[in-house]
Amino acid sequence: MPVSLDRVVLTCALAVAACPLHADAVLDAAVAAIEPKVVAWRRDIHQHPELGNREVRTAALVAEHLAGLGLEVRTGVAHTGVVGTLVGGQPGPVIALRADMDALPVTERVDLPYASKVRSTYNGQDVGVMHACGHDAHVAILMGVAEVLSQRRASIPGTIKFFFQPAEEGPPAGEQGGAELMVKEGVMQGPKVEAVFGLHVNSVLQTGRVAYRPGGTMASAESFRIVIKGKQAHGAYPWGSVDPIVTATQVVMGLQTIVSRNVELTDGAAVVTVGRIHGGVRANIIPEQVELEGTLRALNEETRTLLRERVRAVATQIAGAMGATAEITVPDGVAYPVTFNDPELTARMLPSLQRAAGAENVVLRPAVTGAEDFSFFAQEAPGLFVFLGGRDPALPESQAPGHHTPEFQIDDRGLDLGVRVMAGLALDYLGEAQGTTP
Ligand SMILES: [Zn+2]
Ligand SMILES: [Zn+2]
Repeated sequence: MPVSLDRVVLTCALAVAACPLHADAVLDAAVAAIEPKVVAWRRDIHQHPELGNREVRTAALVAEHLAGLGLEVRTGVAHTGVVGTLVGGQPGPVIALRADMDALPVTERVDLPYASKVRSTYNGQDVGVMHACGHDAHVAILMGVAEVLSQRRASIPGTIKFFFQPAEEGPPAGEQGGAELMVKEGVMQGPKVEAVFGLHVNSVLQTGRVAYRPGGTMASAESFRIVIKGKQAHGAYPWGSVDPIVTATQVVMGLQTIVSRNVELTDGAAVVTVGRIHGGVRANIIPEQVELEGTLRALNEETRTLLRERVRAVATQIAGAMGATAEITVPDGVAYPVTFNDPELTARMLPSLQRAAGAENVVLRPAVTGAEDFSFFAQEAPGLFVFLGGRDPALPESQAPGHHTPEFQIDDRGLDLGVRVMAGLALDYLGEAQGTTP
């Protein structure tokens, strides 16, 4: 809730840095002043979405803005990523703030003047391109945060790195990318980041709210692949076969017992889904092999390890019991760790969230079984990843469009709170480390 700067200045005898209410009012005023630019950036980026590892225009916009603010700027990080570094006027710790930049192969069906008409090629297919997850808002918010913080550079005790990340939704087939590649390219070092913050807009959470959860907040995600090999035979003479289809059905059912019988569910949810099963060419031929593919989700690393081990054991031993063999690949391709909010950091920063949004608007939310590659940054340093409301309160929750759908949209009026949250987290963390804020 913005506080009138004049009122605070008139009634406060303390210097800005010594008075938290005064400091908040100065920040609120700076955020209010930049809000129209943030909305304009977001709409511009929304109208010009780019797929993962192809965020050329977005990255150029970001790099130009950061350079104009006088930040050190590194481009071409993990293909199209941009890292800006703001060195404060006072010594202090190093933190990072992250925004992801990529859009999705989704054709927009929202009737907006700045709706995307862009088309591109994704894995060889002609597709519409849309910011259907709200990463356009993340970029605009972080550009705003960089501007607000650079205005007060002289008094900042520490260094803030701004990570504008490509390909959060995963790189195109055959390419590397995203947070994992940024970490490999050293963004968490030189200087070493000691805490990392990120946010995600949410189309269901009401505008003006912030949601958070300590510990596992988003799940790990990894694919697995099982190839069951048997012995081919005529469908009329099954005794001559080792039937991989019957074996595969038993493996699918066996995998269902991992969550229900092995996972300690009170510690957090887990998911084992088989999403693809393929075998056979004709009704009267028992085939030689069947392939299964699926996804594993867990909310802590112990469960994640357990899921991998049990998938191997269940598939191998059921196949063995049937006289078949199972070749298991887990993880198969990209694997995202659990997005883990450091409990100490979360507790320490909760007052900052509450001052930004108003205590009544900061809500504890259940963990979700979706995944985020912010987790790679948070593996390197304590991290906090929060959700920002993006649903127009006039729209009933039941009618909120889902992420990754052609109808997805978010309410621009929530963006200023995003700037306030991220700037507040940065200033409060650095200030607190220096012992200058309460
Ligand atoms: Zn996203
Ligand atoms: Zn997404």
